[in-house]
Amino acid sequence: MMAKRLPKDPGPAAWNEILPSVDPYPSLSARTTADWLVIGAGFAGLAAARRLSQICPGDQIAVLEASRVAHGPAGRNSGVMVDLPHDLASDDYGGQSDSDRVQITQNRAAIDFAWDAMKEYGAPDEAMRRVGKVNGAATKKGTRHNREYAEHLLNLGERSELLDAAQMRDLTGSEFYESGLFTPGAAILQPALFIRSFAAGLVSNRVRIYENSPAVSLNREHGVWVAKTPQGAVHAPKVILAVNGHAESFGLYAGRLMHVFTYASMTRTLTSDEIARLGGEPNWAATPSDPMGTTVRRISGIGGDRIVIRNRFTFDPMMEVSDTRIRDVGRNHDRSFASRFPMLKGVDMEYRWGGRLCLSWNGVPAFGEVKEDLYAACCQNGLGTTKGTFGGMMAAELATGLKSDGLSSILDQDAPKRLPPAPLASIGATAQIRYREWMAGREL
Ligand SMILES: Cc1cc2nc3c(=O)[nH]c(=O)nc-3n(C[C@H](O)[C@H](O)[C@H](O)COP(=O)(O)OP(=O)(O)OC[C@H]3O[C@@H](n4cnc5c(N)ncnc54)[C@H](O)[C@@H]3O)c2cc1C
Repeated sequence: MMAKRLPKDPGPAAWNEILPSVDPYPSLSARTTADWLVIGAGFAGLAAARRLSQICPGDQIAVLEASRVAHGPAGRNSGVMVDLPHDLASDDYGGQSDSDRVQITQNRAAIDFAWDAMKEYGAPDEAMRRVGKVNGAATKKGTRHNREYAEHLLNLGERSELLDAAQMRDLTGSEFYESGLFTPGAAILQPALFIRSFAAGLVSNRVRIYENSPAVSLNREHGVWVAKTPQGAVHAPKVILAVNGHAESFGLYAGRLMHVFTYASMTRTLTSDEIARLGGEPNWAATPSDPMGTTVRRISGIGGDRIVIRNRFTFDPMMEVSDTRIRDVGRNHDRSFASRFPMLKGVDMEYRWGGRLCLSWNGVPAFGEVKEDLYAACCQNGLGTTKGTFGGMMAAELATGLKSDGLSSILDQDAPKRLPPAPLASIGATAQIRYREWMAGREL
């Protein structure tokens, strides 16, 4: 299997850029062996490596990362680890009750696992905060979505709290929101700090991470997998592929994965005057009440006090987007920022970027043993901080022969459904995204 495409990450990984720079981990420059090879150092890959090290202490684990740790999607997301159902294809995130219950159990297992990792690896508090998140609603329709979602959660036995406009202003400083729905179980990450801390913790536990070392081919030779990089090779009996949509680049799940980009902009650090004008809390996450709307983060910490705006989705089967696209979408971000934070007029965006998501038509992961001793923990359906973490943990359990309820629950899910032929899928997905973004109206 040759890797037909390697990842291209458009624009800077801002969350990583605002942290002090660190020396890279070595890149692979020779032939080496390991008991386990993990390909991809995002949420899924690092979770897989940690779970392997728990199940098989003493085994040699190698991780190949095409780029730098925290430069890919894992370091360029909005950092919201959602514990509750979060179906981007629905109007209010809710799905079928039975599968939602399974989803909640899986998501919480992932959040606990991530939390334990941060504590064990001595990560700064800022890397992961278990403070919940809010679904912000800017319109009557958004408020209705929130109420419907709250009712759905109640039926699942889950607590949530409806916030009014004044409570939303106290949290965000913004008068933009007419209501919000607070759910306490979500965690918020400084995603790059989280991923860096995770990787550093693994390395201090003898996991070998190779950066700037893309697997360009993966083949089985005499019963052992051989992953070649431009300057070396890893020979390992078992491999976990944790490359999200790039599974398709290896010829796996062909015609079953949808490659989508979403985009974000981050302000420069706010001055103390601006922080005073803004008001609100220093660290929060507001996902939109309409899944097609805008996610907003406020962060304050090592990289300054900033606001991050994320919105827009585009369907890009070639897994690449142009700089022009980043610039165009940036205008959307500026509008979304200005409407929410008029008191911050004149505050510029310092960073703009895009990042890959991988979705399947039926909203399931690309998970399981795909060839003998080759396991996939891919296709996170846009919620990779939790779903990727869970997929990575479970791939390690599957590969080591461990049995658990979590593993049974992910193995019970269907396989990703075949997409319509390429031109139809492209036209259909683009039309659907545009229509739903248009319907999101002011929530965007
Ligand atoms: C702007 C934005 C906002 C988002 N917000 C959220 C959010 O708030 N919450 C949430 O849950 N999710 C969010 N996401 C989605 C989330 O980032 C992804 O779902 C998640 O990163 C997927 O995790 P992963 O480990 O499966 O894959 P990735 O994080 O993509 O990691 C896979 C890694 O594999 C590497 N790789 C690929 N090919 C190769 C190869 N051939 N050899 C070696 N390495 C390879 C890549 O470089 C990459 O680092 C957001 C995404 C974006 C872009």
